[in-house]
Amino acid sequence: MERIYIGMGSNLAAPADQLRSAVQALAQLPNSRLVGVSAFYQSDSLLPGQPRYTNAVAAIDSALAPLALLDALQAIEQDQGRERHERWGPRTLDLDILLFGDQLIDEPRLKVPHYHMHARPFVLYPLAELAPASLKFADGRRLEQLLADCPFVGLERLVPSAETNQ
Ligand code: ATP
Ligand code: MG
Ligand code: MG
Repeated sequence: MERIYIGMGSNLAAPADQLRSAVQALAQLPNSRLVGVSAFYQSDSLLPGQPRYTNAVAAIDSALAPLALLDALQAIEQDQGRERHERWGPRTLDLDILLFGDQLIDEPRLKVPHYHMHARPFVLYPLAELAPASLKFADGRRLEQLLADCPFVGLERLVPSAETNQ
């Protein structure tokens, strides 16, 4: 079993509902257990001209191999109508593997830790609700240090997440 953190994002077709559906799908993954889900956040799109995103992070414990988990997450994205056009285009659902235990994974299809999570407030702040501040990354930095270097900008915590539909 590994503790795995999954970043979730949506900016199309009732994003909060998309995230809630994704959480239900994560809870059904084989050989896995849903451990927790952060609050939902809204963030500005990385590219201008897109609707704002709703983001959250989920934690699971899983015995799935990394690429098997990626396959399962991509199947959930497809089930929820993900279409890939331009890079970073608007999407119904994005599920990214942020951390997979303390494994460093460098496969053509899968790089873990996620290459840009250290600079994304919409990943780090929800992650901090689930993981200890002392959580250590592959490069030796700790979550608390990354948070200190990543201002809470362009981000809004939605409370309570279950009652919003942004
Ligand atoms: P970003 O990676 O900047 O967040 P994105 O999530 O929009 O962008 P996608 O279109 O969802 O990118 O994924 C592109 C490819 O990234 C996927 O086909 C997948 O093989 C690969 N990939 C590499 N590392 C990861 C990871 N840690 N989690 C999910 N996908 C990954
Ligand atoms: Mg992504
Ligand atoms: Mg992705």
